[in-house]
Amino acid sequence: MSLIIGRDVPWNATWSGEDRHEIRPCRFAGNRLAIWSPFALGSGKPLFAKPHTVRQRKSISEMRCTVCGERTEFGNRWWWPRGSWRNDWWVSTEAPVHFACAELARHACPVLRKAGHDPIPFPEGEQVLFALVGGEDTDRDFGVKVNGRKVVGHLKLAWRAPWFLQEGS
Ligand SMILES: [Zn+2]
Repeated sequence: MSLIIGRDVPWNATWSGEDRHEIRPCRFAGNRLAIWSPFALGSGKPLFAKPHTVRQRKSISEMRCTVCGERTEFGNRWWWPRGSWRNDWWVSTEAPVHFACAELARHACPVLRKAGHDPIPFPEGEQVLFALVGGEDTDRDFGVKVNGRKVVGHLKLAWRAPWFLQEGS
């Protein structure tokens, strides 16, 4: 059985053949140093719980759908409001999705099914943040040596006073 990206496996997921890391400048992190993985979609087995670091940054910086990898356009840009408060900002690592991709993912993904959330239209007014990584945990988790450098991990989306938290809560 072959797995189809965008249907059986989200574009965002790491494949076992991509599961190694280096530190390289990344154009999706403003050319800052970042955790890098090779790009080999479909090689080995999908690791569903492990977003690919470069694709995660690409999806947020280019507003690409986390399920199929294509760009989302205004009017068909949806989002799961999953995140947490951090210093007066609502912060999230979720990238946007197309409506049809959200529907598909909701049926296919056990985490989303269990959470039972509905996707919402992508909220305006977002800021993009570069989340820095470092220290022994990073060196161990990614098998790299940060050595005190400023290294970006994921990109995050952040809002102040987001309407979607006030409404219906
Ligand atoms: Zn999509």
